[in-house]
Amino acid sequence: MKKIQMVDLKGQYENIKETVNHSIQEVLDTNTYINGPQVHQFQKSLEEYLDVKHVIPCANGTDALQIAMMGLDLKPGDEVITADFTFAATVEVIALLQLTPVLVDVDMDTFNISIEAIKKAITPKTKAIVPVHLFGQAANMDAIMEIAAAHNLYVIEDNAQAIGANYKYGDGSKKKAGVIGHVASTSFFPSKNLGCYGDGGAIFTNDDALAHQIRGIVNHGMYERYHHDVVGVNSRLDSIQAAVLNAKLPKLDAYNVARQAAANAYSAALANHKNIVTPFIFGDKDSHVFHQYTLRIIDADRNGLMQHLLDKGIPCAIYYPIPLHSQKAYLDTRYKEEDFPVTNQLIKEVLSLPMHTELEEDQVKFITDSILEYLK
Ligand SMILES: *Cc1c(COP(=O)(O)O)cnc(C)c1O
Repeated sequence: MKKIQMVDLKGQYENIKETVNHSIQEVLDTNTYINGPQVHQFQKSLEEYLDVKHVIPCANGTDALQIAMMGLDLKPGDEVITADFTFAATVEVIALLQLTPVLVDVDMDTFNISIEAIKKAITPKTKAIVPVHLFGQAANMDAIMEIAAAHNLYVIEDNAQAIGANYKYGDGSKKKAGVIGHVASTSFFPSKNLGCYGDGGAIFTNDDALAHQIRGIVNHGMYERYHHDVVGVNSRLDSIQAAVLNAKLPKLDAYNVARQAAANAYSAALANHKNIVTPFIFGDKDSHVFHQYTLRIIDADRNGLMQHLLDKGIPCAIYYPIPLHSQKAYLDTRYKEEDFPVTNQLIKEVLSLPMHTELEEDQVKFITDSILEYLK
């Protein structure tokens, strides 16, 4: 059996080496490191893949979130609702823009933002909701868009973890995660489902005016050379990263299918165990692209199990160990512990297993056997 990795970027590269090397070599041969044709090509290909009018590439997923919010007419003190159980980037950019983050609890089954909690958190100052499509599965966008329409709120999808996932509406129709709200952000951090070999990100929207606004913001607020109409930033996807993404985007669906296959194998082996809750898929099987495969370990020693796996050479991790409402940077007297029962429980129960495109059957079997051996 090959050594088990949490994420196997090397194994994946070995299988696409020629295409990636050729794609990077083109950038080196033409010296078009910034805004080269590779960036425009990637933008077009991703627009087509997602079926969205505008993709605006930028430097990373955190910038993408920040810039998406800068493009909307939000003012200091406006309240922005987001999930308590996620990576800090989301709440960080809200705070940086002097907006007021309002963290709310998540659902136990999907780990995604709770619709009931959103409804309870809305005040006259609420201006936006940022659902995070956690671990590869979109939040309940039917309900979120309905709340947003009723209260005139923007919806900014943080799609860093769910690129390629299909969202199934209540009426059965489907769209890609990230093209449902007013604007969305994604990350091409190497370990994401579509990762480059450095930092990268993008913003998506179907709104022409917003796309125009954002194209200026990513480029120092310039709409005409040396005319700075708004305060912007410098946030670019460089041509070498775009070249890597051009080589990998055609593989994204196959990569997500490989993740789903590994997830199915895990879930089949771990089904119906009294101490294990396997991931819940809301919608069809193409609606979860398993950025992470995350179990809940209930009424058992989760940390002991984690140590047991690490001792056997099986990497695993806790995403996320501390709720955002308890982080020093985001403490707020408005938050009460009883507002976050689910997040407070999940941080004690979750365990993410190795998940990547190169997982092999014998590795999955060794991992699940090792889990069952510990939990009996
Ligand atoms: C990775 C991630 C980000 C940030 O992306 P970077 O490219 O690392 O800046 C934001 N939100 C979520 C949910 C993420 O997983």
